[in-house]
Amino acid sequence: MIKVEHIGIAVKSLETSNDVFSKLFGASNYKMENVESEGVNTSFFQVGPNKIELLEATSSSSPIAKFIAKKGEGIHHIAFEVEDIVSEIKRLKEEGFTVLNDVPKRGADHKWVAFLHPKSVNGVLIELCQEIND
Ligand code: ZN
Repeated sequence: MIKVEHIGIAVKSLETSNDVFSKLFGASNYKMENVESEGVNTSFFQVGPNKIELLEATSSSSPIAKFIAKKGEGIHHIAFEVEDIVSEIKRLKEEGFTVLNDVPKRGADHKWVAFLHPKSVNGVLIELCQEIND
């Protein structure tokens, strides 16, 4: 793994939270993006070398809606940039982790993504991501 790519935070309302995090960082978000496959609207902030992703559910069946119903708003996942997501998925499965996506899918911000089940990582949802080159 190369580095922490971003931290994902589940929020009830992007409109409200964009305002909160803009005040916190002293800077506005640089992009918003809908990820249909995940049932989320996302908003990205750059803080020095770090990136924060806010996630809002687009429907009650969205994983974010379920997360908030269960745990409330808060840190949802940590994303790590990897060099080769396909070989990392293979490696982590061999190491015994529960990988939720055998095949990487298109995530937000022009990335291939795959998730590891929190049950296999001490309660932390891990996202692997790799820049899409096309
Ligand atoms: Zn993410």
